[in-house]
Amino acid sequence: MWGRGYGGSPGRLMPYIDELKLVRMMKIAIVGAGVAGSYLIRMLSGSHDVIGYERQREENYRAVCAWAASKHPMEMFAKNAGLDFYSYTFHEGRYFTVVFGDDRLDIKATGLVTFDKEAFEKDMRKGQRIIYGANVDSRNLRVVDYDLVIDATGFYRSMIGRPKRDLFIPTVEYMVRYRELPYDDFYAEVFPGLSGFLWFFPLGNRTAHVGAGDLAGNHVKYVEEFLSRHRPIEKLRKVGRPLRLASPRMVTPLSIGRIFAVGESAGVVFPTTGEGIIPSLQNSDLLMELLHKGKLYEYEYERRMLELFKLHERTARIFFDILLKGKTGLHVAIRLAALASSFSRNSERFGLKPGVMPLIKAMMSYAGRRVLTSFK
Ligand SMILES: Cc1cc2nc3c(=O)[nH]c(=O)nc-3n(C[C@H](O)[C@H](O)[C@H](O)COP(=O)(O)OP(=O)(O)OC[C@H]3O[C@@H](n4cnc5c(N)ncnc54)[C@H](O)[C@@H]3O)c2cc1C
Repeated sequence: MWGRGYGGSPGRLMPYIDELKLVRMMKIAIVGAGVAGSYLIRMLSGSHDVIGYERQREENYRAVCAWAASKHPMEMFAKNAGLDFYSYTFHEGRYFTVVFGDDRLDIKATGLVTFDKEAFEKDMRKGQRIIYGANVDSRNLRVVDYDLVIDATGFYRSMIGRPKRDLFIPTVEYMVRYRELPYDDFYAEVFPGLSGFLWFFPLGNRTAHVGAGDLAGNHVKYVEEFLSRHRPIEKLRKVGRPLRLASPRMVTPLSIGRIFAVGESAGVVFPTTGEGIIPSLQNSDLLMELLHKGKLYEYEYERRMLELFKLHERTARIFFDILLKGKTGLHVAIRLAALASSFSRNSERFGLKPGVMPLIKAMMSYAGRRVLTSFK
C-alpha cells in the first residue's frame, strides 16, 4: 500500500510463471501516469492487479511536451489500447523546415503530426485504478507489497533513483494563439554548435507550441526573442522541465530488484530530436512482452533494451563527440552520414525523410563550435 515511512530493499523479482507454466496474476504498481505509465496501466489492468500513482491532480493534469509524433507507430499503439489515434490529431505536416544559420532545409514529412497528447493519455487512464496527487518515491511506497513496481516517472526516476551519469537539456515551452500563424507547418531553428533548437509546432485552430531546449542554457532567451518577433495574441500556458537525453546504456541499471524503469526514466528519448513518445511506448511493449513470456529479469531486460535502442546509442555517441570533444572531421561526417541514412530508411517510424547529403552539410557547417566542456 502507498503510505509513508518504508525504505525496504526491493529484493529479487518474483517468478512470473507457476509450475504449470501459466502466467499468474501479479500485483503491479505503476508510478507515474505519463505516456508510458498510462499505456501500461491500460494494457496490464485486464490481466493483472494494477494500481497507478500519479503526482499531478487529475483535474489539472499537464503533459509537458510539444505533442509531435509519427502517425504510423502511434496508430498501432492507440489500436492496442482500443483507441483511434486519428481522433486526437491536430495537424499533419507536409514539410519540417529546419534552419541552421544561413542554411534552410525543407525536410519532407512522412506522417509527422501533432496530436492532443493530454486527451490521449487521459483516455488511456479512463476507468483504471489510479491515485492522483500521490507523490511517490522509494521511501513511501512499500515495494515488497508488489510483485513488480514500474518506474514511469520520466525525468525524475523517483523509484529507481538518479543514475550515476546523466545528460539532460533544460527546456521551456509556451502554448500560444495567433491571429495568423507565422508558419503554417513544422518549423525549427538549430542553435550554433548544435547545442539545441527552437521549435514551432502547429496545433490547429491558430494555436501552436513554441519552445526550446539548449544545452548551453540560452533556451529562454531564444523563445522570448521568437515571441517578440512573432507576437501571439494570447499565451495560453507555459511549461518547462529538464529532458533526459542520456541513452539507456548511460543510465543503467534499468532495474533494481523488482523495480523496472520505463520510458524517459530508462533513457529512451532520441538524443538529437528530443523525441520520447514513441520510444516510451516501444519500451512499454518490450516490458510487457518479457513479462508475459516470464522473462522479465534484470539482465534480459537490459540486454533487450540496449538492442532495441542501439540507434539511440550510436546517435548519442556521435553528438557527444561533436558537442563535448569538438570533433567535426571527415570521420564524424561519415558516421553522421550513416546515421542520417538510417533515419531516412526509417521514415515511417520518424515521420520524416531527410535528404542525407543536405542534412550532413548543414550540420557539419554549423557544428564547428565546441559548446560544452563537461556533463554530469
Ligand atoms: C518541452 C518538451 C517537449 C517535448 N516534445 C516532444 C515531442 O514533440 N515529441 C516527442 O515524442 N517527445 C517530446 N518530448 C519528450 C516526451 O514528452 C517524453 O520523453 C515522454 O513523454 C516520456 O514519457 P514518460 O511516460 O516516460 O514520462 P512523462 O511523460 O514525463 O510522464 C511521467 C509522469 O510521472 C509523473 N511523476 C513524476 N514524478 C512522480 C512521482 N514522484 N510520483 C508519481 N508520479 C510522478 C509525472 O507527473 C508524469 O505524469 C518533449 C519533452 C519536453 C520536456
